[in-house]
Amino acid sequence: MTTAIAFLGLGHMGGPMALNLMKAGYSVSGFDLSPAAVETARALGVNVVASAQEAVATADVVFTMLPMGSHVIAAYTGTPESPGLLAIARPGTLFIDSSTIAVDDARTANDLAIAAGHRALDAPVSGGTVGAAAATLAFMVGGSADDFATANPLFEAMGKRIVHCGGPGLGQAAKVCNNMILGISMIAVSEAFVLGEKLGLSHEALYDVASNASGACWALTTNCPVPGPVPTSPANRDYAPGFGGILMAKDLGLATEAMSSTGVDGPMGALANAIFRRFADGENGGQDFSGIINEIRDRSSVAETIGN
Ligand code: NAD
Repeated sequence: MTTAIAFLGLGHMGGPMALNLMKAGYSVSGFDLSPAAVETARALGVNVVASAQEAVATADVVFTMLPMGSHVIAAYTGTPESPGLLAIARPGTLFIDSSTIAVDDARTANDLAIAAGHRALDAPVSGGTVGAAAATLAFMVGGSADDFATANPLFEAMGKRIVHCGGPGLGQAAKVCNNMILGISMIAVSEAFVLGEKLGLSHEALYDVASNASGACWALTTNCPVPGPVPTSPANRDYAPGFGGILMAKDLGLATEAMSSTGVDGPMGALANAIFRRFADGENGGQDFSGIINEIRDRSSVAETIGN
């Protein structure tokens, strides 16, 4: 029998992900609170139903792809007036949350699902809207080995690299740790290019040296923040994302939250969070996160820096 999937949250990521599940032969019932998201998903070809209740009541698997942890927990638990997804679903339904949320929220969501008699995985993704459309996302999964084995074919319909990271919350843990490396390394690469400019070093010369030396990293060799050396990087198209500065600020906020709840002394992560928060709140926050280099360059003509 075909696995019946409810897909809640048909936004930039969820719409194309739901479509890829349908293309792989699954029976999908999608729902979103936003009429605009519903319209876009329907135009893509996603089967959209009239309510979350209708999508979830007969589902074997419930995917959520929502903005934040508070949305996931609210959707799971509902309100006194309207029952949550956990109350609507049949016993033993597998709940998979692919939103990027705090590790603590992911564990809470997982505990709530298990307490209600269901199964649960956290399965955040990387790869952005391009990966969502092309079914090349990376999935980082937390939860039991059995539930992972059940869900793996679904992840394969939407992604390319799928890693079971361990128990509940550890998919989100892998995501925040990776993105903290990425945020810090993009700032490092950008500061190095601006310093090189001040010293009279061309972008090409610095790239040719660092990309073949110990400075090599994804922020330099794939998402290079200056136009030229890597023609496919967002810097070559006016910093159109890519991975938006607002999403990087969100993920660094989650990393900082996790560091403070676990007592990690992580000044680099905390500073990267402050730097990207300011970028996200500024006029260029909609740009790719590599646009941070322009802010660093602009600020380099004045003495003021974060922290003084
Ligand atoms: P989005 O805002 O485009 O979509 C989220 C959708 O959830 C919205 O359409 C909203 O109306 C809907 N929604 C909220 N509460 C709901 C509910 N109770 N029931 C049904 N629908 C509900 O966001 P997105 O870009 O698709 O991102 C979704 C998640 O994926 C976020 O957590 C984000 O951090 C993460 N993510 C995004 C990207 C990216 O490049 N966009 C990449 C990786 C991870």
